Amino acid sequence: MEDKPKDITELDFFTRQIIDPDGFAFFWAYKPKCPDCSNSRLKKLKKRDKVYVCESCKKSFEPEEYLALLKYNLEYTCPKCKNKGELYGSWVKPKSKTAPIMLKFACEKCKEKLKVMRMKKAKKKKAKTDEADI
Ligand SMILES: [Zn+2]
Ligand SMILES: [Zn+2]
Repeated sequence: MEDKPKDITELDFFTRQIIDPDGFAFFWAYKPKCPDCSNSRLKKLKKRDKVYVCESCKKSFEPEEYLALLKYNLEYTCPKCKNKGELYGSWVKPKSKTAPIMLKFACEKCKEKLKVMRMKKAKKKKAKTDEADI
């Protein structure tokens, strides 16, 4: 498990949300560190850029390489058994920017199948939850 995020600009994606009816999920995934020099996190210099760049060693990475390096962190409260758990692992990020499911996982205790969803803008406001896809 990686540290909780302090700086949102270091993240690829995060969300805090209710898992219906009364569960909870806090999900965060850092932009991966450069696998060559590990001094900087990979990022696009401009939003429309195709490749990701390491600011330290200037090496660039294709989107597939970037995606293969992504890891997720999850803190959750299971809505079924109320177990509080933490998960960390490789993250297969959905290809589409509008894919509704960001992560499927199972409660470690009761094995209930759970999901972390991408929230719609309107709902986000109403639920007063935080989410960013950077
Ligand atoms: Zn580098
Ligand atoms: Zn459970």
